[in-house]
Amino acid sequence: MLSKIPCEVIEVLKKIEKAGFEAYIVGGCVRDLLFQKTPKDWDCATDATPTQIVELFPDSFYENEFGTVGVKVKPFLEARELNPLREHDVVEVTTYRIESAYSDRRRPDEVKFAKTLEEDLSRRDFTMNAIALKITNYKLQITNKNSESEKNNNFEYEIVDLFGGQADIKSKIIRAVGDAGERFGEDALRIMRAIRFHAQLGFQIEPDTFQALQKNAALISHVANERIKDELVKIVLSDNPAEGIDMLQKTGVLKIILPELENGVGVAQNKHHIYTIYQHCLMSLKKCPSRKLEVRLAALFHDIAKPQTKRGEGLNATFYNHDHLGARIVEKMLRRLKFSNDVIDKVVLLVDNHMFYYNPEEVGEASVRKLIKKVGLENVKDLIDLRIADRLGSGTPKAKPYKLRHLEYLIEKVSKDAVSVKMLKINGRDLMQNLKLAPGPKIGAILDVLLAEVIEDAEKNNKESLLIRAKQLDGEDLPKLREMAKEKIEEKKEEDDQEIKGKYWVK
Ligand code: ATP
Ligand code: MG
Repeated sequence: MLSKIPCEVIEVLKKIEKAGFEAYIVGGCVRDLLFQKTPKDWDCATDATPTQIVELFPDSFYENEFGTVGVKVKPFLEARELNPLREHDVVEVTTYRIESAYSDRRRPDEVKFAKTLEEDLSRRDFTMNAIALKITNYKLQITNKNSESEKNNNFEYEIVDLFGGQADIKSKIIRAVGDAGERFGEDALRIMRAIRFHAQLGFQIEPDTFQALQKNAALISHVANERIKDELVKIVLSDNPAEGIDMLQKTGVLKIILPELENGVGVAQNKHHIYTIYQHCLMSLKKCPSRKLEVRLAALFHDIAKPQTKRGEGLNATFYNHDHLGARIVEKMLRRLKFSNDVIDKVVLLVDNHMFYYNPEEVGEASVRKLIKKVGLENVKDLIDLRIADRLGSGTPKAKPYKLRHLEYLIEKVSKDAVSVKMLKINGRDLMQNLKLAPGPKIGAILDVLLAEVIEDAEKNNKESLLIRAKQLDGEDLPKLREMAKEKIEEKKEEDDQEIKGKYWVK
């Protein structure tokens, strides 16, 4: 495990020690090393002040109030292999701190530096994150003088573990340092962190810590939405996202941060479903085949409007319009949690369209082109992944039945066909030249009708036949043309609605 400590990190520690200070690797990176995972960032703790660290490392930056100095080092080997142009990596060096008052339960009122490592470790959140590692007897060996990358570490180490963190990592347990209730009371973000680590690492939450989570869940409302979002994203992208969300529910955090999802708890569906709404949301997330944040969020939230749209009880309950209402609810939720517009737009689009109808016996290429026009080619794969999540999350054994595979084939087949005016083999200028039309709204209206017809039959997308048809259309007046383009769209919508209501799972 120790071979994973980059020599650049060890050299920073040694330089600090040479100047007469203490220096330890601490926090998540020690946890990851002990758990045989590759740490993604490196934190050091020291008794040197930030000013002293900056003096030691002129190429460092100190831009925060928390006593953390970013020391720039040569890129770590792995990072260099991924990106040879990478300029530097950063080792975060933080002066020992102690816990101070958190009157707003979000951040300490002031940073108080501490004298000893023991004090610093005791302010950390969980035992697994409160272990320090000191390098002893370090000898850097350069096996090939010409190659930076062939440095070898040769050292011994000591571990400082005051709270039984190593044993907890071994037993895969998340346990608060000291009194769990007090620790969550000081900083409610730790509530989200405990649950996030449960999802990321697959560790269980120790009973006293769990009880303290339940008792203090309401404090989460003091945490800024951005920070809740950051932890939620880590939960959703983790290896155990459904377990993470369920832990939010069991501790009472979910009803505060995502009450819309909590509304589905215990609400039965209908004869097509064995799970309650909430269980189905979790299962869909669990079974989601995509690692993309947006698709996973859509899997979790696609049925968010089912509780409100439920009509009737028992086997024949219905949920008409839950997809479109759901899209609006999801938009509000994600905005409240300060997600970026890009993420919001994508999740809303997926939820809005998750009921798309597809049955190869009835639906042909024209309908597939309409689907592509509606959601965009770049989103179709994600929409299919959402459908797979939805199906598997309903307890259906087969991820991709023949129907979906056939749809993928058709998408591939029609993916180059025109689904927008600019993909027509004719443009406004052609119309003006050939039909002697003056610039104006009629040109756009004719193109819209042509597109509607090309979507129905891709063969029509050639310049010759488009010009012939355009000449005929030129005989119609503007309102009629608009009507014709609209009719085609309305026709389709009507079809969609009937098909969905009549034949799909929300009967
Ligand atoms: P990761 O980097 O994988 O998200 P981490 O444990 O390294 O997990 P960081 O946010 O990088 O988390 O924090 C580094 C260390 O700082 C933690 O391991 C922990 O010791 C301490 N720490 C971070 N946030 C808190 C907090 N809210 N309360 C107490 N200690 C904390
Ligand atoms: Mg970290």
